[in-house]
Amino acid sequence: MSIYIKSTYLSLLLTTIISMGCRGNTDTLPKQISFYEQCNADISKARTLLAEILAVDDVRTIENTIKPYNAMSIALENGWGMAYLARSVHPQEDIRNQATECEKQASQFSTKTSLNSTLYDAIKQVDISRADKKTKRFVRFTLRDFKRSGVNLPSKQRQRLSEINKELTQLGLAFDKNIVTDVRYITITDLSELSGLPQDWIETRTKDSQGNIVVSTDSPDYVPILTYADNTNLRKRLYTQRISRAKNTNKDVLKKMLIFRDEKAKLLGYKNYADYITADKMMKSGRKADAFIQKVSSLSKARGKKDYNALLERKRQDNPNASHVESYEKSYYTNKITTEKYNVDQQIVREYFDYNRVEKALLDLTSRLYNISYKRVTDIPTWHSDVKVFDVFKNKETIGRIYLDMHPRDNKYKHAAKFSLRSGVVDVQIPEGVLVCNFPKPQNNKPALMELSQVNTMFHEFGHLMHHVFGGQQQYASQSGTATERDFVEAPSQMFEEWLLHYDLLKHFALHYKTNQPIPLILVNKIKKSNRFGRGVSVQQQMFYADLSLSLHRANPNKLNLDTMIKKLQKKHTPFPFVDGTAMYASFGHLKGYSAMYYTYMWSLSIAKDMISPFRKYGLLSPKWNTRYRDKILTPGGSKDAKDLVSDFLGRPYNLKMFNAWLKE
Ligand SMILES: [Zn+2]
Repeated sequence: MSIYIKSTYLSLLLTTIISMGCRGNTDTLPKQISFYEQCNADISKARTLLAEILAVDDVRTIENTIKPYNAMSIALENGWGMAYLARSVHPQEDIRNQATECEKQASQFSTKTSLNSTLYDAIKQVDISRADKKTKRFVRFTLRDFKRSGVNLPSKQRQRLSEINKELTQLGLAFDKNIVTDVRYITITDLSELSGLPQDWIETRTKDSQGNIVVSTDSPDYVPILTYADNTNLRKRLYTQRISRAKNTNKDVLKKMLIFRDEKAKLLGYKNYADYITADKMMKSGRKADAFIQKVSSLSKARGKKDYNALLERKRQDNPNASHVESYEKSYYTNKITTEKYNVDQQIVREYFDYNRVEKALLDLTSRLYNISYKRVTDIPTWHSDVKVFDVFKNKETIGRIYLDMHPRDNKYKHAAKFSLRSGVVDVQIPEGVLVCNFPKPQNNKPALMELSQVNTMFHEFGHLMHHVFGGQQQYASQSGTATERDFVEAPSQMFEEWLLHYDLLKHFALHYKTNQPIPLILVNKIKKSNRFGRGVSVQQQMFYADLSLSLHRANPNKLNLDTMIKKLQKKHTPFPFVDGTAMYASFGHLKGYSAMYYTYMWSLSIAKDMISPFRKYGLLSPKWNTRYRDKILTPGGSKDAKDLVSDFLGRPYNLKMFNAWLKE
């Protein structure tokens, strides 16, 4: 029953989020609590619980110390999660500002607590010799995290760490904000510049007062233009603007961030921040991460060269004197080759992917694979009318709630991600996850056609969402859902992408928007074949990003020249020349949250490729293997080491055989 109480509590929070800007007549309406007050209530609850733990004047036990500490973490995470979401998606600026403020307070409380040596000693004193495995793990990891925060350091250094963390929070917020707010626009005065783009896309673009089409650096404009526009100059202009976002603001922010991170790592006894951040991950050190990146980069070299030569050869059909291919020509000529050589025209493919059908297909598919059902919730307010809410049921029991906020709007988070509104904790709260994406929006009964790559992203994000929901039956918040090693988190999501091109599923939802005919099997087979084209350059591009993210955190930040480093690494990993004047690092949003760990994507992919092997043998719809996957990988969340989860599922330790085969495939 407590589950329902908690859900009601949440809808109250959401009501307060949206009601802030439109408070009614207070004589007739109950006084609305502001978002800020509500968010603060969670942080206050955490503060009260902390005081209670510290006040215990008795032998330390699980009951009087560990359980209240878990409750404190839950309260803190609840306030923090809601603030982060509101800051990223709320349409009202005042609420976003309040959310930012609350997030800062949550972060400051968290930092202060993590350096509280009295609390650390209290937890250390608890006798866990007879506790269950998960409690032992919880205590072991909690003490480890305290040490990683610097609780053992002399007070002067602890004080310095606290200052550094405060600075890093502020810088992180600024870094994000500078990217989101620097949307750039190009006005198209001559419509012939849009040659090559789909008609339905042109018709739904924004127009200025003179009737000119205005395109922005946001993905719904950027991706189609880079893929389809015949006009190279238009592609170059938009590409240059896109990877120059936040250039004037974030260069300084990033430098400062790197300096503080380096100082923090050294205070904690690590050589650099890359070593610090990887120490508690599967990877364990910056050196190992670097070895992985260089290995994958070299494995993909020959294939990348082949891809690049094919692109150049195709470009020469348009321009016989071409000597090289630019970054802003890659998607365009990749699309040309897949259309002409493999007979896959992305413009035809997208006619089979209407947003509404894809959404329904994902709900149906996950119901079928994992034996759950969804029920639309329409009687709770949300932060925007686009947001759809569903309760998730397993055997008639509510096991989670999901929110789908899937279409772009001003001041909204620009990418695609799963946000955590609530981590699931048994007998306390059900997991609540939010997908925040920027896919085409169905309007006026017109279909919203998605690029295949967008459908792929949607499958990916659903992979995270399922992990969040199924992993939400834990005793401890820090073991719930996707709270596993950070370099394992992208494995379930990347693995779930594999289900997209399964014809037994596709034939039911990939129906042509005009004729309702299913996508032809022959076209799907061609897509699969053409998907292999460009894998070499694409892996190289990923390794460029991974190396950039890692190298920035291994270098001496005081001597670092960001522009020199980015040019050097782009040249090292990819065959495409650097476009002068751009500064991709300034809008490389991962540098905030992932810091040195962009490698996680490829590393997780290498594990996902291994985990898919039983499905290759027994079929993607195998009830036995899907149930096993749900129970052995998703449900345990972070209650076991990722490598153990994978061996429990596979019945053997993971290896890179399948990944190497995929690189060569
Ligand atoms: Zn992901």
